[in-house]
Amino acid sequence: MARPEPRTLALLSRTQVTPNMVRLRLGGSGMAGFPENAAGGYVKLRLSEGEDGVKPVVRTYTIRHQTEDAIDVDFVVHGLKDEQPGPAVSWALDAQPGDTILVGGPGPAKPLPEGMDRYLVAGDMTALPAISVNLESLPADARGTAVIEIQHEDDRQDIAAPEGFDIQWLVNPHPGSDPELLLGRLRELGWEDGETYAWVAAEFAAMRTLRDYFRSERGLGPDRLYISSYWKQGEDEDSHRVVKRADLETAG
Ligand SMILES: Cc1cc2nc3c(=O)[nH]c(=O)nc-3n(C[C@H](O)[C@H](O)[C@H](O)COP(=O)(O)OP(=O)(O)OC[C@H]3O[C@@H](n4cnc5c(N)ncnc54)[C@H](O)[C@@H]3O)c2cc1C
Repeated sequence: MARPEPRTLALLSRTQVTPNMVRLRLGGSGMAGFPENAAGGYVKLRLSEGEDGVKPVVRTYTIRHQTEDAIDVDFVVHGLKDEQPGPAVSWALDAQPGDTILVGGPGPAKPLPEGMDRYLVAGDMTALPAISVNLESLPADARGTAVIEIQHEDDRQDIAAPEGFDIQWLVNPHPGSDPELLLGRLRELGWEDGETYAWVAAEFAAMRTLRDYFRSERGLGPDRLYISSYWKQGEDEDSHRVVKRADLETAG
């Protein structure tokens, strides 16, 4: 099927969700024909046009909420202290209401399949929008634990998860610096008999440690495991994509 043409959306508003997360509402007439129920899926934000052989700058973000004429996108604010923020963060912080951006997608969400005995969910702040959508979509009697790495205590968010769902927050002010953090907490949780489904999205090195754990130690196959790296320390999205593709070819 032909990929839909990117559409032009306008910045409608910006909200500071938590100290290190900013929400941009994008919408307007360009939303006409946008697929319904796309929350949890991703969009490709085109931050600069490519010209003279230079590729356009494109960054991938999750749709946190969707209304008839807008989508909300939550940006992790990174790189302000010790380096230049990437183009996505710069745009998220500098754009003014009415500014427009080309938006590709949406791509499909990766929901939690219903009917499992237990869910284990792990991710950092880049995965928090997708995790929130997924937990909010579970049936009320679903059970499990989500372990979420945040940059600051105050980056916790209210998630309308099922009552029996435990959400644990791990603070790491330096994202990407501790690939074993999520794994350490998951190990502490132990393992239960029954059907477990694991969902992980995190920094590349953290993703690899978690993939080893769930595949090799816990024997989860693809029907019980969604795992993806959302970014890689020291690489921008383009070079991360190259590493990710090579990794997928070797690790599957
Ligand atoms: C399917 C999918 C969905 C995603 N959804 C979201 C989302 O909803 N919200 C969100 O914030 N991110 C999300 N991401 C991650 C986001 O695409 C990357 O973080 C992206 O690299 C940010 O672009 P940038 O222009 O800010 O930085 P880049 O130009 O790509 O990178 C510049 C530098 O910043 C570093 N960097 C990139 N991201 C982070 C980070 N989070 N923390 C610390 N350092 C970082 C890089 O290693 C690099 O050194 C998603 C990724 C995927 C694949």
